[in-house]
Amino acid sequence: MPPKQKRTYPSWSMFPEHHVSVSEELAKSGLHYQFNEDDDEDSCSQDYDTNIMGRFRCRRGNCKTQGWSSKRIAITIRRYQSTSYNVRVYHQRCKSCNGLSRPELDVQSYVDRITYRLKKWNGIPVETPVYSGQSKAPHEEDLCEGCKNGRCTQSGGPVATFPDYW
Ligand SMILES: [Zn+2]
Ligand SMILES: [Zn+2]
Repeated sequence: MPPKQKRTYPSWSMFPEHHVSVSEELAKSGLHYQFNEDDDEDSCSQDYDTNIMGRFRCRRGNCKTQGWSSKRIAITIRRYQSTSYNVRVYHQRCKSCNGLSRPELDVQSYVDRITYRLKKWNGIPVETPVYSGQSKAPHEEDLCEGCKNGRCTQSGGPVATFPDYW
């Protein structure tokens, strides 16, 4: 393998480090899930597209941007047969230089979304949480890798529907 392989920066990634928080929350409802490191569209039994919040920093050294925050980072939640799940978090592009960036997650929004969905899939009644501070800015599809992968709930849709995607 040639050592330089920088240009294929991935358009999404997973955050298994937040599984501990997810699993603590699920345990309160008697659910026990493993994080499946092997993301597989074919073997998953259910999937769901939604979004979370977080912050991005541009990785390019010569880029002047201060980074940006997003209230609509596209994610895909998948669950698999043997009580495992995983979550794809789609990256976004920098407005200034078009470089791809991996977010730092708002962990609370991540945990809320994942546990809500897994409980729902298990038939456990859950209340839909309400977030304040909803962004009114239009969604920039060109900068969103979720849109490019056809997995973004904001793609082509009205902005105002954001809080409903539970
Ligand atoms: Zn940049
Ligand atoms: Zn999008």
